[in-house]
Amino acid sequence: MKAGDCAAILAHISAYLDGELEATECDAIERHCRECDSCASVVAGLRHTVGLCREAGSAPLPDVVRAKARESVKKLLAEKKS
Ligand SMILES: [Zn+2]
Repeated sequence: MKAGDCAAILAHISAYLDGELEATECDAIERHCRECDSCASVVAGLRHTVGLCREAGSAPLPDVVRAKARESVKKLLAEKKS
């Protein structure tokens, strides 16, 4: 994952919302966010909503929360592509 590749970061965030994100991928996202204000604000918002990079073993997200978060990531991805 290249630093500065916002679309890849957002895709990983979306993958997280569909299941579990590997710890190494969490690290890559956090590293990217240190250098990228736009992704940092996305992650900050999602972390507040869904607890990005939660500790293993925590309860699954309620579907409604997951769906909402996934929608916002999808929207951001569409904006990045356009
Ligand atoms: Zn970014």
